[in-house]
Amino acid sequence: MNPPIKQTDSNEIDRIEYRNVTKVFNSQGKNKSEGDNNGKITAIEDVNFSINDGEIVSLIGPSGCGKSTLLNMGAGLYQPTVGNVFVDGERVDSPNSHVAFMLQKDLLLPWRSIRENVEVGLEIRNVPAAERRLRALALLEKIHLEEFVNMYPHQLSGGMRQRAAMARTLAVDPSVLLMDEPFSALDAQTKMILQQDLAQSLASENKTALMITHDLSEAIVLSDRIIVISARPGTIIAEIIVDIPNRENPMDRRQNQQKEMAMYIAELMKLLHLGDTSEKAIV
Ligand code: ADP
Ligand code: MG
Repeated sequence: MNPPIKQTDSNEIDRIEYRNVTKVFNSQGKNKSEGDNNGKITAIEDVNFSINDGEIVSLIGPSGCGKSTLLNMGAGLYQPTVGNVFVDGERVDSPNSHVAFMLQKDLLLPWRSIRENVEVGLEIRNVPAAERRLRALALLEKIHLEEFVNMYPHQLSGGMRQRAAMARTLAVDPSVLLMDEPFSALDAQTKMILQQDLAQSLASENKTALMITHDLSEAIVLSDRIIVISARPGTIIAEIIVDIPNRENPMDRRQNQQKEMAMYIAELMKLLHLGDTSEKAIV
């Protein structure tokens, strides 16, 4: 049995859409050797996909294939060379409040308590103090940090800090969460616990997310759909629907859906040429 391919349902609302997106960089400084004869690097070439309301999609592909570039264009930090990105039907031409970013580094402000860190984005949006406090505390409770709200980032473990970063990302109630390898710096067990927290928070807030990961199991347990990108210039080589129940419960997917998990892992490995003894393997 092969994993199903995506069927487009025209009644679904697109939260984010990449339409004919190509991104060419001038190669300079440290990535000079990557450029062509004209000093250009095509990071992403003619990428098209959209993500529906409430859907979680993972991007996987070899290092340097343009995954972070795609996210940066979604956040309005980079502009496509060709094509457009739309969030909630509006073309993204600068950083905007519809999207929130979560990175491998938690980027918490060391001089602010955990609660104050979660409130940062709300403060920028002039949300009244009492309201932002309530929202921050509710989110921190949901992700099991209620005992740490008045502590400072240096007093918390890496996993807890990344949880606080998750609460901060959700606090601004974005239309789309963009996550660039959010758990890649964590140990395997902490990672599983945070995946569970993330999945439950995204489901209970009905959030839409686009996440980059190198971890095939992580992509499968957290996602509704996985987009596989080729080596640079990055193009979409497959879109796989993860047809396993309980997306809000990655632990259950791991424990009770092992046969299905193995099938998806095998499919992804094939697409990435992992396990090939030839030099085709792309990482
Ligand atoms: P990934 O996240 O998949 O590892 P990136 O999106 O970071 O890949 O990078 C894709 C390619 O684009 C790489 O060759 C990288 O060197 C190049 N690149 C990324 N950002 C810039 C930039 N700001 N200027 C020049 N080249 C860049
Ligand atoms: Mg990257």
